[in-house]
Amino acid sequence: MIVLSGLNLNGIEKITDVLKASKFRARQIHNWIYLKSVKTIDEMTDLSVKFREELKKIAVVTDTKIKVKQESSDGTLKYLLEYPDGECVETVLMRFDNRANLTACVSSQVGCAVNCSFCATGKRGFIRNLTYKEIIEQVLTIQRDTGLKVTNVVFMGQGEPLLNLDNVLMAMKIFNENFQIGARRITISTSGIIPGIEKLASVDMQSTLALSLHAPNHEIRKKLMQIENKYPMSELKKALKDYIAKTGRRITIEYLLIKDLNDTLESVKELVAYLHDLKCNINLIPYNSTEKNDYQKPSGNSIMRFKSLLEQSGKKVTVRLERGSDIDAACGQLRGKVDV
Ligand code: SF4
Repeated sequence: MIVLSGLNLNGIEKITDVLKASKFRARQIHNWIYLKSVKTIDEMTDLSVKFREELKKIAVVTDTKIKVKQESSDGTLKYLLEYPDGECVETVLMRFDNRANLTACVSSQVGCAVNCSFCATGKRGFIRNLTYKEIIEQVLTIQRDTGLKVTNVVFMGQGEPLLNLDNVLMAMKIFNENFQIGARRITISTSGIIPGIEKLASVDMQSTLALSLHAPNHEIRKKLMQIENKYPMSELKKALKDYIAKTGRRITIEYLLIKDLNDTLESVKELVAYLHDLKCNINLIPYNSTEKNDYQKPSGNSIMRFKSLLEQSGKKVTVRLERGSDIDAACGQLRGKVDV
């Protein structure tokens, strides 16, 4: 069976050619998949019943199942999706600004090889890359399930997107062209894969780059993220400066604030020194405790002190709103609950 989700207009035209239907039919099917987010071919009501019956003999809308769905009291939705081979990933829908901004947080891999010490996904190790179709299927599933139109996509779910860059780039192109999501509304978050950052700098796509820095110096970063051994902060900075120079775009620095580890006065000073000549905004993420490690969330006072000291350096600093904390909507946590 052909899966319609993930096909571009050319791909759908090949099917309508086989069925000896016009290119206009292909355009109608394309709209039903991407803009109206139907679950079945029967819902494509501007196609004749006879044509729908023929189409159903060779194609389905999707082959991905919702295995678990959780809804937070703040409206965040979290899905565990199952692909035909039985592998699962999670996808989250966050709603901001009275729902005008619907952000899908998508996964790019099953498991992850980077193994950051604070992340449940990393504990599983790497299983496989997702295809671009499996990536976009996550957003389609959200749209089909909610009837809402996703406006922003962030690659901050399971996996390291820059280690699956070809599929991620293809998915971004389809988000942009088929879903009509502006490239600036698509963010790739990386743990700091330097060759991937270099490649991204040379791609003609106005997306946003977010770096999970999480530490003010090499020693603390090594404790939190093994990737620091391979791509240390000193080299990372050079890659980021090159990226900014080539693209002209401001990057986002993600900084997970962990009590007594990287939230001290000394840490702020080191962080300011590291970032002083980088065109960036900073997003502070208070650590969301899990059962699987000893890291703790800093107090509200400590978070505000860290933020205000950083702001004195002239950078724009935000503290990430906690979303879905009552449904384990932090990286990798739902997957861990179901499987372990
Ligand atoms: S935080 Fe991201 S890069 Fe690190 S192990 Fe988890 S999924 Fe991989």
